[in-house]
Amino acid sequence: MKASKLLMPTLREAPAEAEIASHVLMMRAGLISKLAAGVYSYLPLGLRVLQNTERIIREEMNKAGAQELLMSALLPAECYQKSGRWDRFGDDMFRLKDRNSRDFCLGPTHEEIFTQTVIDSVHSYKDYPYTLYQIQTKYRDERRPRFGVMRTREFLMKDAYSFDISREGLDESYKAMYDAYRKTFDRMGLNYMIVDADTGAMGGSGSQEFMVISDVGEDTIAYCEDCRYSANIEKAVCITGEADNSEMLPMNKVATPDAKTIEEVAAFFGKEAKDFVKTMIYNAEGKLYAVLVRGDREINEVKLANKLGVGEVALADPADVVEVTNAKVGFAGPVGLKIDIVADNEVMKMRNFIVGANETDCHIENVNPERDFTAAIVDDIRNIEDGDICPVCGKQIKTAQGIEVGHIFKLGTKYSEALGLNYVDEKGEENPVIMGCYGIGINRCVAAIIEQNNDEAGIIWPMDVAPYKAVVVPVNVKDETQLSLAEKITKELEDAGVEVIIDDRDERPGVKFKDWDLIGIPVRITVGKKASEGIVEYKLRAEKEYTDMTAEDAVKTALSLIKK
Ligand code: ATP
Ligand code: MG
Repeated sequence: MKASKLLMPTLREAPAEAEIASHVLMMRAGLISKLAAGVYSYLPLGLRVLQNTERIIREEMNKAGAQELLMSALLPAECYQKSGRWDRFGDDMFRLKDRNSRDFCLGPTHEEIFTQTVIDSVHSYKDYPYTLYQIQTKYRDERRPRFGVMRTREFLMKDAYSFDISREGLDESYKAMYDAYRKTFDRMGLNYMIVDADTGAMGGSGSQEFMVISDVGEDTIAYCEDCRYSANIEKAVCITGEADNSEMLPMNKVATPDAKTIEEVAAFFGKEAKDFVKTMIYNAEGKLYAVLVRGDREINEVKLANKLGVGEVALADPADVVEVTNAKVGFAGPVGLKIDIVADNEVMKMRNFIVGANETDCHIENVNPERDFTAAIVDDIRNIEDGDICPVCGKQIKTAQGIEVGHIFKLGTKYSEALGLNYVDEKGEENPVIMGCYGIGINRCVAAIIEQNNDEAGIIWPMDVAPYKAVVVPVNVKDETQLSLAEKITKELEDAGVEVIIDDRDERPGVKFKDWDLIGIPVRITVGKKASEGIVEYKLRAEKEYTDMTAEDAVKTALSLIKK
């Protein structure tokens, strides 16, 4: 490929909205261009990377015995209505009507459609198990599309679904996907962690996420270096310390006129945040709850929603807070409150803490759960934190940020029951088929690879995903000797099956080198003044130094690396 012909609009500066390395570099290297929030086009170099990423996934899926098929992105409403997700997806789903006013959506994920396909195509229990997959475009009207292709409204997903007729069968299908995912992400050169994940409203018996460790990750992972426990904080179990057995002191209402923030109130009492209990009023699908955690803790809304058996919870509107507490926002407390109280386990072990008084500018001190209020639900509803106790071995938990690139999930019979995917067993009895689902976000993988493989000059592609494997740069294209040696090297590499670029542009060498460093081509062969002696410079993008060698050796060295 000639660089002079390649559509590669490299930029000196990325647009201001690009906050993270992968977004900045994908824009600057001319891999993508933006059309709307969370909607991108892939330019030639970007598409090659995407296709390489896809190829790795496809190869590992096929090796694991999964069969590829392809479903439409335009889907009739009926299947999603049967499973209840037509409503549950809410605004995340792109909906449209056809000319006859029939409801359709652009598929956000395809559990229902695969289930329906198996209903239509498999008739005997003897045919199971199956693992089916597709690499296909998904649509989700995300609340906050951001970070370039990390979270978009249109994205490519590899989604696989397994269909078994026994729990053991599901375990095997799941294990095959687990192993395939490990090989896939290893080949992408990613440093990742496999963590226990929330199964939430989907039910199911087990689920794990593949998390690429990165400061820009939107998920928080709790892990233990001693016993290797690791979980998404949505799932990580919080262990509460010893109960405080101090004597219960008399409750006392205190006016706290000028103190607004928890720090100000703490300073007023001469106490710390952990001596308080925070009361947050939540709306769980129309019902209000008062939710209690220790003053220095954070409520985990996923845990909370699961315990309340709803899909989502949100902080209540200020007007609702005022109505239930009879006070301005900021003074809620559990004592005398008329709505149900949900208390974190830890709160129940505390003594003599401070809470809001349900009265503007007032707090109550020396509150004790066993004496002063009744919690309807007591459970683990807080975020685990650095330094907390590991729920498995008792040592210390650490936390890190992760980018979720893949998710595997033992679904069970949720969709087979909802849609009627049954098999008739040997005894003539009908049973629901047992399912698993397995997703990889392909565009997000590309962004994650860049997050972990870049430097101040640009991207450093792992060989398997690089858009081109080598670039040959004649320093002066007007010099016949240089150009012809560069062309010879390029041809030899091409003939050996290497995807190679020759930089035939009449530009200063510095400009050319900058572009290839930014784009991240793994091997660069520079043909300069020593071309007359048959000597070239061989340099790897990942290394600082170059080596002088004969053109033949450069080709050989490149081939041994690329064809490995
Ligand atoms: P997230 O919590 O990040 O929204 P999710 O739990 O909704 O992800 P799944 O429904 O499990 O994701 O989808 C499978 C995979 O698809 C995810 O692991 C992720 O890699 C990818 N993915 C999900 N949403 C997006 C998106 N908006 N843009 C790009 N990739 C996505
Ligand atoms: Mg999502």
